[in-house]
Amino acid sequence: MTQRAVDFHCHLDLYPDPAAMVRRCADAGTYVLSLTTTPKAWSGTSALAKDHLRIRTALGLHPELAHERWKELPVFDEFLPRTRYVGEVGLDGSPDYRPHHAIQARVFEHVLSRCSANGGRILSIHSRRAATAVLDALERHRDAGIPVLHWFSGNSKELARAVAMGCWFSVGPAMVAGARGRALLSAMPPDRVLTETDGPFAVVDGTALRPGEVEGACSALGSCWGISAQEASQRVLSSFRALMAVQVGGPSISGGAG
Ligand code: MN
Repeated sequence: MTQRAVDFHCHLDLYPDPAAMVRRCADAGTYVLSLTTTPKAWSGTSALAKDHLRIRTALGLHPELAHERWKELPVFDEFLPRTRYVGEVGLDGSPDYRPHHAIQARVFEHVLSRCSANGGRILSIHSRRAATAVLDALERHRDAGIPVLHWFSGNSKELARAVAMGCWFSVGPAMVAGARGRALLSAMPPDRVLTETDGPFAVVDGTALRPGEVEGACSALGSCWGISAQEASQRVLSSFRALMAVQVGGPSISGGAG
């Protein structure tokens, strides 16, 4: 039997034909965390997945959009009680977005405070060129829930701090292509590593990854862990199930929404 894939960071609503991507995931039995980049996108994006229990929709406000969409924070607050998953959220310190650091930080603080006040969430977090600032914020909001650092690209010291803080990680095919990414991988606790595509943003060989295309990530994890890609995929699935069993706020799994 083919192993079910786990794609814990994917933007289903940003593909040209989202419904086709949902069908693809349903046919393959792929577990997907479907991220939104703005709070207003949450209703439509979760409606896409309403008949598919393996697809969960996270409520987000992407740091690259914080300066344009911060006025949607009341919408974030309105929808938060309806989902166990928050993302994509975080901070981005790369040159194009560094000028918006102040508003990004305000948005991220707001998100983490609201998650704490609502009993915690599972969070998919962006930390490009901002790992230390993200970890500082998470440390201020210990009750925000379980952080899953997506496409982590900080240094080894920042990684060690994230591990000590209990963070999880989702790693994609694009991340495992380089030596630096692989060195980070080997320092992550194997029982806190999930796979992701970050599709359609992540591109491999000129093509946007489709939801669930995590074979490259599984083979890199396998070689890092000294096991086969198939065994790595199995280990990721077990970790995913363990994460799903963790108690955080929000509706229960049987509650449907999110
Ligand atoms: Mn993303």
